[in-house]
Amino acid sequence: MTRTSAPVRRQLRPSGRLLPEDTRRHHRALILQLLFRYGAASRADLARSSGLTRVTVSDVVGNLVTEGLLTESAAETQGRVGKPPVLVQLAAEARQIVAVDLSAEGLVSGALLNLTGDVQDRRVRPLEGRRGADAVALVHELVRELLDATDRPVLGIGVGTPGVVDASGVVIDAPNLGWHGTALAEGLVEAFDQPVFVANDANTAVLGEHTFGDTGDGGLMLIRIGTGVGAGLVLEGALLHGHRSAAGEVGHVVVDPDGVECACGRVGCLETVLAAPHLRERLAADGERGLAEVGTLLGTVLAPVVGTLNLHELVLSGPLELLDGPLLEAVDRTIRERTMPVSGEELVVRTSALGDDVVLVGAAVLVLAGQLGVS
Ligand SMILES: [Zn+2]
Repeated sequence: MTRTSAPVRRQLRPSGRLLPEDTRRHHRALILQLLFRYGAASRADLARSSGLTRVTVSDVVGNLVTEGLLTESAAETQGRVGKPPVLVQLAAEARQIVAVDLSAEGLVSGALLNLTGDVQDRRVRPLEGRRGADAVALVHELVRELLDATDRPVLGIGVGTPGVVDASGVVIDAPNLGWHGTALAEGLVEAFDQPVFVANDANTAVLGEHTFGDTGDGGLMLIRIGTGVGAGLVLEGALLHGHRSAAGEVGHVVVDPDGVECACGRVGCLETVLAAPHLRERLAADGERGLAEVGTLLGTVLAPVVGTLNLHELVLSGPLELLDGPLLEAVDRTIRERTMPVSGEELVVRTSALGDDVVLVGAAVLVLAGQLGVS
């Protein structure tokens, strides 16, 4: 065997000099993250919890107040003598975020959200079979409409789309939309001159659930069930991307080699039994027993994942009338039956706390994380 290329030397840590602007950006993100997570605080509190000097904190906070991202208010003092300390907090209404969700069957949904993830305006367009460049044009139309509707500065545009998406926002492959190597982020940046963040819909959903869905800090896996089936994982506080940006593609694991053909060309993928249209057929044919059987199958697929990663939370996201009942119960039971007791001890199996908005909220988190360093 001949080696045709030089061996790759893997770097464990990024090298290169730390520039003053990197340090400033880091300090800014640190302060914003503390206020985002824990709410209003005084400059002294921020210095204590960040480990930065009082001078640095005052400098960073001053700049953020000037930018309108933080507001100041006097703390309540119950009968105490002296000047009350000044608290600073994130100004939730200082900016709006444009979010787009391409995961629903035959629809493109868009929304404007504030900086604390509240949906404040929404628009929906039917896809009407549009694919390829026509589907991209529809996304641009929707974004234009939302940008016209906002009366505040925009922080950025976030998009959750089906398919495999690389780190630069190129949709490598989304068969349902006819997108292959489609530079969705780049096109939106050119058209609207705004920062743009594009990610896979299940990854987007798990970020939304992690930041705004009342989750703990243990491992979280979200299974997104719609036209297709995908999953996203947040481990040790970070989204898992995988070697080729395809982590979470559990929908195309074969569960029934004698089953029906899948859109990907294989036979009997998990998606061919778990996707929403298939669940509806199953419910019509076999009733709730049919849903429980699919839940057992899903639990069988997920048990090795839960056992391997020692996940804390497993969240199902999709049509609640299909998921929240015998299916969820069967998933929970099957995982516990098939893993060590320690794996199931504190495991929570539930449906999404954010309901249908999980991808829109997650798309806003992409922008918050990318632009302010908070999540
Ligand atoms: Zn498949």
